[in-house]
Amino acid sequence: MKQKGSGRNRVNFFSYKLDLELRESLRLEQKLRKAIRNQTLEAYLQPQVSAEGKVIWAEALVRWFDPEDGPISPARFVALAEETGLIHGLGQLMLEQVCFHLSQHRGYLNNVGIAGISVNLSGRQFYSRTLLRDIKRVMAESGVEPEQIEFELTESLVMDDVQMAIDVMRRLRDLGCRISIDDFGTGYSSLAYLKRFPINCLKIDRSFVEDIPHDPHGSEIATAIIAMAHKLRLEVVAEGVETEAQRDFLIAQGCESLQGYLFGKPKHIQEYVDQGRALFFENNPGEIKSVINKQLRSE
Ligand code: C2E
Ligand code: MG
Ligand code: MG
Repeated sequence: MKQKGSGRNRVNFFSYKLDLELRESLRLEQKLRKAIRNQTLEAYLQPQVSAEGKVIWAEALVRWFDPEDGPISPARFVALAEETGLIHGLGQLMLEQVCFHLSQHRGYLNNVGIAGISVNLSGRQFYSRTLLRDIKRVMAESGVEPEQIEFELTESLVMDDVQMAIDVMRRLRDLGCRISIDDFGTGYSSLAYLKRFPINCLKIDRSFVEDIPHDPHGSEIATAIIAMAHKLRLEVVAEGVETEAQRDFLIAQGCESLQGYLFGKPKHIQEYVDQGRALFFENNPGEIKSVINKQLRSE
């Protein structure tokens, strides 16, 4: 009797918990729909640096600040966006913002060293019939060169439907864009396929970089990925580099690009604009006078 009762209570507890989770995810979905409609999501940029320590590229990462909930992590809403189809609107918004920054702030980004920006693509976006058309339209409207854009795809995404994935990747490459495999080492891509993928770059997952240099597991995997990528004539970016020891180890193994908190967190575009402007005046001291004079004349 007693057991039956507690069993029933447990069922009640689970259904209560499920109900709460469902409500929360519906609430988040509605908010996200609104945020996409009002274009309040933002593409923050995290720098990538060369082995010499120069900024060369950046990755766009979506940021959402909700007036009630504060900052909401992509870990909470990107999967939800994928499940509900909102990822199409989210992805479109990210691409538009990235192209806007590349065209409107080109000079400043160049001053900082950023030659182009990587954009993450989710499965639903990547396999969408309208992907190529949408990308071409945004690029044409903004005047951005395809070489300035890289698309990041995960291994599991491309392994979902290998033939179709190769076809879409070829089209993106034919357009002139770059392609990288994100979080490399965590999925199940076969080496035979890897050779056939028309990609430019592998991004070593942060979980391996984290182990460097003390834990042999991650260090050995990172070393093996770098060697294999170079054999396949692919570039390598290490993700999540937080310490100088990790940086030095990866560079010694031949890793050509690095990304992580050691070099900078994802930042708002205004920070790059300010930095690019400061660098411009540093290199052209005479310009400060003429800009101030212009401002004085217009007042
Ligand atoms: P990801 O593409 O692998 O991005 C790298 C993640 O690692 C980012 O988390 C970044 O902020 C974080 N990170 C970078 N350096 C470090 C570091 O040194 N230490 C640590 N602990 N973390 C570091 P974030 O921004 O929370 O994004 C998480 C994931 O959400 C991304 O992983 C990506 O899969 C997805 N995501 C983010 N933005 C977009 C987007 O615009 N579209 C799509 N489809 N997915 C996105
Ligand atoms: Mg990424
Ligand atoms: Mg990654």
